[in-house]
Amino acid sequence: MAFTEQYDVVVVGAGHAGCEAAVASARMGLRTAHFTLNLDLIAQMSCNPAIGGIAKGHLVREVDALGGIMGEVADAVGIQFRLLNTSRGPAVWSPRAQCDKQQYRFKMREVLESQSNLYIKQAEVVDVISDETGSRITGIKLRDGRTILARATVITTGTFLNGLIHCGEEHYPAGRSGEPPAILLGEALKRLGLRGCRLKTGTPPRLDGRTIDWSKFEEQPGDADPTPFSFRTREIRQRQISCHIATTTPETLRIIRENVSRSPMYTGQIQAIGPRYCPSIEDKVVKFPDKEQHQFFLEPEGLNTHEVYVNGMSTSLPMEVQAEIVRSIPGLENAEMLRPGYAIEYDAIDPTELDRSLRVKKFNGLYLAGQINGTSGYEEAACQGIMAGINAALFVLDRAPFKLDRTEAYTGILIDDLISKGTNEPYRMFTSRAEFRLHLRIDNADRRLTPHGRRLGLINDEAWADYEAKQARAVALEKLLATRKPHQNRIADLFPDATALGNTAGQTYAQLLKRPEVTIEALWPALRDELIKFEDQTLFAQWLSYESIRSAQRNELKSVEIEIKYSGYLDQQKKSIEKLKRAEDRVIPASFNYSTVSGLSREMQEKLTRVRPSTIGQASRIPGVTPAALSLINIYIEIQAKRSAAASALAETH
Ligand SMILES: Cc1cc2nc3c(=O)[nH]c(=O)nc-3n(C[C@H](O)[C@H](O)[C@H](O)COP(=O)(O)OP(=O)(O)OC[C@H]3O[C@@H](n4cnc5c(N)ncnc54)[C@H](O)[C@@H]3O)c2cc1C
Repeated sequence: MAFTEQYDVVVVGAGHAGCEAAVASARMGLRTAHFTLNLDLIAQMSCNPAIGGIAKGHLVREVDALGGIMGEVADAVGIQFRLLNTSRGPAVWSPRAQCDKQQYRFKMREVLESQSNLYIKQAEVVDVISDETGSRITGIKLRDGRTILARATVITTGTFLNGLIHCGEEHYPAGRSGEPPAILLGEALKRLGLRGCRLKTGTPPRLDGRTIDWSKFEEQPGDADPTPFSFRTREIRQRQISCHIATTTPETLRIIRENVSRSPMYTGQIQAIGPRYCPSIEDKVVKFPDKEQHQFFLEPEGLNTHEVYVNGMSTSLPMEVQAEIVRSIPGLENAEMLRPGYAIEYDAIDPTELDRSLRVKKFNGLYLAGQINGTSGYEEAACQGIMAGINAALFVLDRAPFKLDRTEAYTGILIDDLISKGTNEPYRMFTSRAEFRLHLRIDNADRRLTPHGRRLGLINDEAWADYEAKQARAVALEKLLATRKPHQNRIADLFPDATALGNTAGQTYAQLLKRPEVTIEALWPALRDELIKFEDQTLFAQWLSYESIRSAQRNELKSVEIEIKYSGYLDQQKKSIEKLKRAEDRVIPASFNYSTVSGLSREMQEKLTRVRPSTIGQASRIPGVTPAALSLINIYIEIQAKRSAAASALAETH
């Protein structure tokens, strides 16, 4: 007789979204069950052995600032750290790390297994169950017949729903290479009436590093002083190694052009749309015919394996063609392929089915997070995972949902884009998606989000004490920089070409920092002397004990410097942020009836009814919704409010 287990929250899927959701829910004190198809593949990196990168690094920092785990795990197993875009403004600086793929899985499983209230188990989830009303999800069913009851369910099944792998003319059902698809669960979600879409992504071949002639490639070492992801990481201890840079040859392009007709993308075998910003090598050759070379990277998959990931060579061409392509590269003539590249098609759920807390609007107690919502990327999945885990827990605790808007986090932007616009191709984050990117930097993610994480119970006492000490140092530094004036001869010491600075007599440190050529690191020796005289020695005691600036200290100093250097722009953006927040505060009642708004086209009425934006701000970001439509809706909100007030007054008199 099959038996039933009872939990507060159940999370389906132990990928990058599921791990964050499960730990968040358990850390908030909820008894959380976490089911996945294979416990040995928890947090498997399906593709690139890297965390972070342009804009993705911002998401990792936000997950960390809220109290999530991806950043700390990546710091523990990262083998090549680079801070990207440092030649550009601080808004787009993005941390990235190659990770030891195997260690990443082990470390993540260790974190999950050491988390109290969390019960991780291997099983296939095949159905979702609801109460007699059909509007409240009450748990899941497992392939082995068990029923798992839970007051909230989070589904994070990635590329597994009805997954179909393509490699040349070959194609077969799978969730990922070597793993079964989730057919039954996919059908169960369709039975719930959730709108779906069919998406695609792809991955490159993996090579045996022992068969590569490394001398033929340009080495790309990591940063000498690695920038950690987590605000709680003191320093990076892991051995660091290099990647290598390579380019295709005319022979490579000839082989691809001659065989592109055998790629499932071009034979029509694959119908789904792939990630525009992560094209296959055949896509690149077809779309950029004049480009004579395409760069790619040889990235080690770990310290204890010879496996090498060929970043930039994603393909679903037939095996034998992939082998020819690889061997057309000088240095790879004898390279052995360990795994072929492939494409995968999978079902995703239309994210306009969700509200800002990642709850499925049609049901109580059901949340979706990760690639199932149409995104692509470990980081995009992780930020949704922590939000869904938090909100599933808050639902069970009967507390208001936790939401982030576009002005406070990239996570807020990602969720708002998904639920307002939906997606017809895998969505990935870019800094260009942020209206206020100078406010949403990697250095201030903790200032923006850690207080939320503390209030939600995800930031422990030690981390909170560190956070508060850091804020106190920043306030003290800003005050010192704004009031203290370095002695003229000190400036001459620090800036041999001080004349280039013009007249600096009587200028404060902050005024000096407004100059592009003056950095806080350059000022540090003078600043250090000021701090020695500083009244509250405890604040900076650790810094003063260092011989040279350490990366954690440098990050804090840079953050203070950025606030000073860019204060003018930051103040300007504050006005537009206030305007957006006002639009966000203009709530559209959940029951608002768009069909009564005369002047709205039928198409717009249908779109607004389907998306059901919760605020005027969100409505304004739905493609095709015009300012004129918004002002009409504003007026009708008033009219409908007056009508319902009059109706209830009338009802009271009878
Ligand atoms: C071939 C391939 C190429 C990719 N290329 C890239 C890329 O180049 N860049 C990039 O950023 N991202 C890429 N991705 C996407 C990236 O891997 C995902 O975005 C990310 O892993 C999504 O995380 P997730 O938690 O949503 O899902 P996943 O990490 O896929 O995890 C899903 C989890 O759900 C579990 N699961 C599924 N169904 C069930 C069930 N019925 N019962 C129990 N457990 C279940 C699985 O076991 C798995 O643990 C690629 C993915 C694949 C498969």
